[in-house]
Amino acid sequence: MFNKILIANRGEIALRVICACKELGIRTVAIYSEADRNSLHVRFADEAICIGPPQLSQSYLNIPSVISAAEISNVDAIHPGYGLLAENANFAEVTETSNITFIGPPPEITRLMGEKEKARAAMAKAGVPILPGSEGVLAGEGEALEWARQVGFPVLIKASAGGGGRGMRIVRNEEDLPGMFKAAQAEAAAAFGNGDLYLEKFIERPRHIEFQVLADRYGTVVSLGERECSIQRRHQKLLEESPSTQMTGELRATIGQILSTTLSKIGYVNAGTVEFLMDEDRKLYFIEMNTRIQVEHPVTEMVTDVDLVKSQILLAAGEPMEAVLQGPVGHRGHAIECRINAEHPEKFTPSAGKITAFHPPGGTGVRIDTAAYAEGIIPPYYDSLIAKLIVRGKDRNEAISRMARALEMFIVEGIYTTIPLHRRILADPDFRAGRVDTTFIPRLFEKQEKAAAEADTSSVARKGKYA
Ligand code: ADP
Ligand code: ADP
Ligand code: MG
Repeated sequence: MFNKILIANRGEIALRVICACKELGIRTVAIYSEADRNSLHVRFADEAICIGPPQLSQSYLNIPSVISAAEISNVDAIHPGYGLLAENANFAEVTETSNITFIGPPPEITRLMGEKEKARAAMAKAGVPILPGSEGVLAGEGEALEWARQVGFPVLIKASAGGGGRGMRIVRNEEDLPGMFKAAQAEAAAAFGNGDLYLEKFIERPRHIEFQVLADRYGTVVSLGERECSIQRRHQKLLEESPSTQMTGELRATIGQILSTTLSKIGYVNAGTVEFLMDEDRKLYFIEMNTRIQVEHPVTEMVTDVDLVKSQILLAAGEPMEAVLQGPVGHRGHAIECRINAEHPEKFTPSAGKITAFHPPGGTGVRIDTAAYAEGIIPPYYDSLIAKLIVRGKDRNEAISRMARALEMFIVEGIYTTIPLHRRILADPDFRAGRVDTTFIPRLFEKQEKAAAEADTSSVARKGKYA
């Protein structure tokens, strides 16, 4: 087992990894930028090393600095968290050549899954259904048009290196294709340093359903069931739950079996998430695989009682699956996670600054993963996620009531957050009935604006009548 782990991340996920290490009796090393000097991950790690100025490229994404910190502190392993260097195969390679274990899959697998059109091809070859789409990287607008005609409009042009919902454009007809192609290419090049594109059939109102897997070094891959992540803004998740209201035991078992065989054949190791879209006929299509711990992993932890981060560490240390899981994995109750971002709740513009008041909710079935605190500063340089509020209930209704009351009792002052938006989602009759798909948020806004406008005209009418 490892003696000491360096956490190459910040914020709530760095703290989450520190928690797992503490429970396993492993010492921790935090790295931090000058903007994060007063962060909780620095405070709670056994050691902390400043690796540079606030800008990501000069600190958390600076591979030589991160590796130097790992070498100076003499760690056995690096946990990358999510985002940042988590899916950077070069980083994983440099880590391993420095004789430090990278807590994640082998670099060749990260590389394969990181090129999304290659991942599609690999999955299709293994018998996992994919959406109709192009083969390989698109050579140019001409090839994109040929594939779009073959697949049929609408299509979605996507970045091969994509992540975080960026570099995507919906194309509804031939005339729009050249403009959308150029826009997607420019956005992908700016965001990922790689303008490669592919295209897929666009599904109008899909659900996003993903499967959590764990794999040991000896070919055993288990599926821990699904998460429904259809509540999104700009193709980024806002609220996740498990189980999905659309899943049946039979479908879950079938997909679990397919994934376990496919990933074992590919040589997958450690934790990963396989993302699918579900169409109106409840058919699932693979869209991508994330080769890391995911933001929404706590909902799976809440219903399975498996600690996924501890599992990652044990698997990376070479433990076999039986030793990691210690028995069959069950599923109990229903869990929901709300991502609390430091953002304006309608415009989604980032909101950095000082948190003046912070009161997190508690009580039965409530979990909060956060590195935020009263008087703490949210720097403008990083991801806007500042807290995750997770609840578990005996069923979906109890989880919803519990989340609604927890949101009511969650106070963050001094900056904008998405808490008010989550309160609106939880109060919505369609959400409560489980009628959700990836277009839920824009439709919620439309519905509520219409209701507000109607209330407005009726109050004008009333005034007119009685004034
Ligand atoms: P998840 O399902 O875990 O939320 P996301 O794809 O939304 O997966 O990404 C998780 C985190 O990683 C987010 O904070 C996102 O901004 C960040 N991220 C994802 N892809 C990239 C990338 N290619 N470069 C930088 N950050 C990324
Ligand atoms: P990223 O790497 O940015 O996470 P994904 O391929 O996982 O990209 O897609 C992110 C989201 O974009 C999905 O959850 C879904 O809302 C939307 N999306 C992706 N592909 C399609 C598609 N073919 N049709 C409709 N929506 C899609
Ligand atoms: Mg995705």
